[in-house]
Amino acid sequence: MIKQTDMIPMLDLKKEFLEIEAEVIGKVTEILKSTRYVLGPHVEQFEKEFSQFLSSSNTNNFYSMGVASGTGALFLSLAALSIKKDDEVITTPFTFFATVESILYMGAKPVFVDIDDKTLNIDVNKIEEKITKKTRAILPVHLFGLPCDMDRVMDIANSHNLYVIEDCAQSTGALINGRRTGTFGDTGCFSFYPSKNLGCYGDGGAVVTKSDTIYERILSLRNHGSRGNYIHTEVGFNSRLDEIQAGVLLIKLARLDEKNRMRRENANLYNSLLKDVVKCPAEPDGYTHSYHQYTIRSPHRDKIKETLSNEGISSVVYYPIPMHLQEALKGQGLKRGVLPVSEQAASEVLSLPVYPEMPQVSIRKVADVIRSCL
Ligand SMILES: *Cc1c(COP(=O)(O)O)cnc(C)c1O
Repeated sequence: MIKQTDMIPMLDLKKEFLEIEAEVIGKVTEILKSTRYVLGPHVEQFEKEFSQFLSSSNTNNFYSMGVASGTGALFLSLAALSIKKDDEVITTPFTFFATVESILYMGAKPVFVDIDDKTLNIDVNKIEEKITKKTRAILPVHLFGLPCDMDRVMDIANSHNLYVIEDCAQSTGALINGRRTGTFGDTGCFSFYPSKNLGCYGDGGAVVTKSDTIYERILSLRNHGSRGNYIHTEVGFNSRLDEIQAGVLLIKLARLDEKNRMRRENANLYNSLLKDVVKCPAEPDGYTHSYHQYTIRSPHRDKIKETLSNEGISSVVYYPIPMHLQEALKGQGLKRGVLPVSEQAASEVLSLPVYPEMPQVSIRKVADVIRSCL
């Protein structure tokens, strides 16, 4: 039996909470006493500070909108761009299901482009061959926190007159040449699910845009197609951020860059200990990975996972089944073999614990166990 204290979890949210406990309890108590619980001054303050967080010297003036989840951010973006039945949206098959689900909610068709073998993100060289008369948008995912090649995505989108919706659920704080993910496309979609780099204590999300039109439309769509005056200009959704989550997010946003820096330090240590035995995550020049996940690749993945587990070390396969092979998408008629790079990745990837508060000794322990079984 391994002692509880010797186990290594994927994440230690309790450690993080204890660092900010007094501040959080104070803020939550203040909000509970205010009796304003859904949308309100903390949501507005968070939206302002999140826009500032995303700004850099050459890109600023963003609108941020707090919404109920990352999934909400995605479907509200698609709805605000009037993506509808029979439209096609180009995306990656190697992602969390919500990316694709949001396209299907609109009655639109996800069109999958295989991933790049090195970055595990959408292969920008294969996008153009999938563009048809029905294509309306590209929805890239910055998987595990590594930004996609947004210069190429934006060039392709501009030359074919397509919208771009960035799925930044895993990349909050990640950068390309000093510019944050979420600031390249028509909208950037963020998730504040507790396990994300910027997580609250429940569900939460945000949409970011530079467009006045998209901003106005999502303010209404997130609140039943109304600006809160019982005048409904269209059918919308209920997808609002609440005050308690916004209060928590304000406290955590101030620490996000430091927490991401700690993740990066952990990742660098793993790289130095593991690079000769497994494939370590790529980080091209100019890119700043947020290491939402530290994901290795090995043909011996299952053996590594089992050995880690026997030593009380958690690891997770993100993601075991690419989207085109999911039962929920069988109506699309896509068979094994059509997106070979994604299928191969799904059989080799393994995400290791990389959370900011993880002690260096634990990282060395994980690396030792992996090395011992190869
Ligand atoms: C977490 C996640 C989402 C969904 O976010 P929720 O806040 O859980 O709705 C969407 N896309 C990706 C890539 C994610 O990791």
